[in-house]
Amino acid sequence: MILIDNSKVLNKGIAYQPYSRKQLLNVIAAKMSAYPDKPDHFVDWLCAGDEFAGQDRSLIAQAFLPRHLYGEYLAHIWRGALATCRQKNISVSVLQDTVCDLDVTESGVSMHLAGREVIHAGTCVLATGNQLPGNPAIKHESFYKSPLYFQNPWNIESVNGIAGSLPVLIMGNGLTMVDTVTGLLENGFNGSILSVSPNDYNILPQRHSLLRYTEISGELSENIPLYDLVRLVHKHIKKVRSLGISAGPVIDAIRPFTQTIWGNFTTEEKRVFLSRFRHLWGVARHRIPLTVHDRIQQLRIDGKLVVIAGKILDICESSNAAIVEYYDKKAGEIRKTGVSRVINCTGPETDFSKLDHHVLNSALHKGIITQDPFRLGIRPNTATFEVLNGEGKPQPVLLTLGGNLKGELWESTAVPELRVQAVALARWLL
Ligand SMILES: Cc1cc2nc3c(=O)[nH]c(=O)nc-3n(C[C@H](O)[C@H](O)[C@H](O)COP(=O)(O)OP(=O)(O)OC[C@H]3O[C@@H](n4cnc5c(N)ncnc54)[C@H](O)[C@@H]3O)c2cc1C
Repeated sequence: MILIDNSKVLNKGIAYQPYSRKQLLNVIAAKMSAYPDKPDHFVDWLCAGDEFAGQDRSLIAQAFLPRHLYGEYLAHIWRGALATCRQKNISVSVLQDTVCDLDVTESGVSMHLAGREVIHAGTCVLATGNQLPGNPAIKHESFYKSPLYFQNPWNIESVNGIAGSLPVLIMGNGLTMVDTVTGLLENGFNGSILSVSPNDYNILPQRHSLLRYTEISGELSENIPLYDLVRLVHKHIKKVRSLGISAGPVIDAIRPFTQTIWGNFTTEEKRVFLSRFRHLWGVARHRIPLTVHDRIQQLRIDGKLVVIAGKILDICESSNAAIVEYYDKKAGEIRKTGVSRVINCTGPETDFSKLDHHVLNSALHKGIITQDPFRLGIRPNTATFEVLNGEGKPQPVLLTLGGNLKGELWESTAVPELRVQAVALARWLL
């Protein structure tokens, strides 16, 4: 078995080796076990360690813990897996390198590495996870080569070493914006922060992590049409709101059905969902811990963080500043402002044709992989994880999982989905 990964944070991923020890999981510990059939595994691991010795188990289970702790948990599991492999004489080698290109034949896959080596394997699993955010279209795209531009918001360089008194511009206002604002403050930035994105600020906090609302499940059918679903969700949200409860538990109740419902939508329904409801769904679904939400709101009250609904039209570099031109929706006018840097927090790019010098882009051009019509991921056979080639044929030697399945499954991002897929894919391989 050979694992090829190009990151320095091997085995933890960008999510679970954050630059700040204060960045929190957005899911309570009780829901973060790495194993679908051992729901208490993460909490058991926490309770067995020194950090939480003697503390109340139920409080630990309900807490939003630091993401780096989850990284340590994954590393612990990885070490255990390696030990098991040694006992069973299964060889595992780890290469820190980038796969730049693939060739697929019926008998296997050749992976061309940046270090020029070529690795041949009987089966290859594409577990490429989150890509860097794409560069939004602006008039002077040459700005994206400027040292004032930070395309990778998960890298500490994006938030430290800021000189001068100009504001910082964040593109996007979702969960990565929240992490970046926290990172800027932690790294001593004292100025103001602007965030521009198509929608106004509407990140919601996790208010009711433990409330269960099941009534909607009885009314959901697997092939419910999009507009019936919208009406049903509205009806139930109205009901919980009348009890003083926010929409969160209703949205959580739909989650076990989301993949099937999405799979049964027509292409037109998917298109309408993506253009009209994607943002609303994202807001309702990806909520943040209340303490973090309060911190962000306080910054907005204090005028330190200004969230603008609008569109960035252009950015140019001019004597140690970036001049940003954007359309402000509320004001109904184009504005210009100088900022000290621009950090891209627009979320991982899923259109592989836009990834420069990337294995997925090259595989797309070679017809080794194809994308769904909305370019959310790789087209697979979801029962077997086999990647479909340009002719729509499943390739038993090339498998994929995780974020790459978003086009087929929609909900294929967080640990509760990934752990189920990882077990099913491992069984399929065996
Ligand atoms: C900031 C952040 C926070 C998150 N927080 C949570 C949370 O609190 N709870 C939750 O349930 N989910 C969360 N998620 C979602 C999900 O759990 C994580 O994204 C998870 O790490 C995904 O795991 P993965 O292995 O699929 O991808 P990744 O962790 O992205 O790993 C993919 C690996 O492949 C490597 N790679 C990619 N291309 C190549 C190549 N060509 N050659 C070699 N190596 C390559 C990358 O360097 C990377 O190391 C979060 C995601 C992010 C981005």
